[in-house]
Amino acid sequence: MNSAIDFINYVQRMLVEGDFSATYKYALLHAIADVCVESPNVTVNGKLPISLDLLADKMLRLYWNQARPFGGAAQPQQLHQNSNSKKQIKIISAVQSIQATGLYNINQLYKSPHYKAVHKVAKDALKEGPLWRLQILAKQEECFLYPHDKGQQHIELKAGVAGYFREFYHLITYLARAAWIDKIISFKHNQYLVGAQANLPEFLFGQDRKALAYAKPLLQELQKNTCFYCGKTLNEHAEVDHFIPFAKYTFDLGHNFVLADRGCNNSKRDYLASYENKYKWEQTNLAHHGQLITEQLASYVECDADKSLAVADWAYQIAHNSAANLWQNKSEFRPA
Ligand SMILES: [Zn+2]
Repeated sequence: MNSAIDFINYVQRMLVEGDFSATYKYALLHAIADVCVESPNVTVNGKLPISLDLLADKMLRLYWNQARPFGGAAQPQQLHQNSNSKKQIKIISAVQSIQATGLYNINQLYKSPHYKAVHKVAKDALKEGPLWRLQILAKQEECFLYPHDKGQQHIELKAGVAGYFREFYHLITYLARAAWIDKIISFKHNQYLVGAQANLPEFLFGQDRKALAYAKPLLQELQKNTCFYCGKTLNEHAEVDHFIPFAKYTFDLGHNFVLADRGCNNSKRDYLASYENKYKWEQTNLAHHGQLITEQLASYVECDADKSLAVADWAYQIAHNSAANLWQNKSEFRPA
C-alpha cells in the first residue's frame, strides 16, 4: 500500500498533469470522495468497489444545480462546462431538458419517469471519458486510485485509497471545487456571465502583468529572437513564459522569465521543464545574463537570482519526490 503522502502527491499531480478540457474529471474526483465518506464499513486498508450506477448518480447530483440559468441579467444563461462554446456537456443538456419541464428539485427527480433516462446519460458520459481519463497524467496512464477494467460495472479503489479519501475528504473536495471554479471562469464564453467575479482571483492574488511586457524586449535580445525551448525564430506571437510555472510559485521573479513561441508555451502549461531545459535556464538567465536582467528589470519586478535558483531547486525536488513528469518538448515528457 502506498502512503498518505503518495496519495496527496498523486492528487496534486493529477490536477496539474491531467488534461481538463471539460469539468467532468473534477466531478468524478468529487464523486469518488463523496462515496468513500458515505459508504459504511470502509476499513482503513481495505479496497472499495464502487458501482458505476452509484458514481453516475453522484455526478448527476453534483451537476444538477449547475444546469440552472446563471446570472441575474435580463437573459440568464447556462454556464458552459467545456472549452467548446458551441456544445454543452451531455449531463448538463439532459438535466436542462428535465428542468425545462418544471422539475427543479432533484429529490423529486428520483420519483419521476425522467430519472432512468438522465441517469443513463450520466453513466454513459462517465464511461465515455472521465472514468478512464482521470488517471492519465502527462498523456500516460497511471492507475493509482483504481485499475482500469472497462468490462466491469464497477471500479475498485485499491487498498487504502478509500481510507485516504476519507481522511483527506475536506482537502480533496476543496481542491476539486476550486479547480472546477477556476476552469469554469477560464472558459472565454463564460466570462461575460461571470462578470467582475472572473477578475477576483487575479485582483486578490495576481501579479502586475506589466512586468511581463517589460521583460519581453529584453528577452528577445538575450535569446536572439528564438524560442527558449525549441530554438525556432519567434514571430509576433512570442509569449513570456514563467520558467518555473506560475501555478507552482505565484510570484514574479525577473530571472524566471523566458520567451517562447505560442506552441511551446501552450504545450508546457503548468509543467516543469526537463532538467536539460533547467540547465540551459541556469546557464543563460542566471550565469550569463543574471546581472543584466537585474539591471534592466529590477525597477518593475523583483530580481534576485539566488532566490530564483532556490525556488527552482525546491520545485524540482518536489517533482522528483512525487515522480512527476517533466516537459521536454511538445511531444515528449521525461521523469523527474
Ligand atoms: Zn518553441
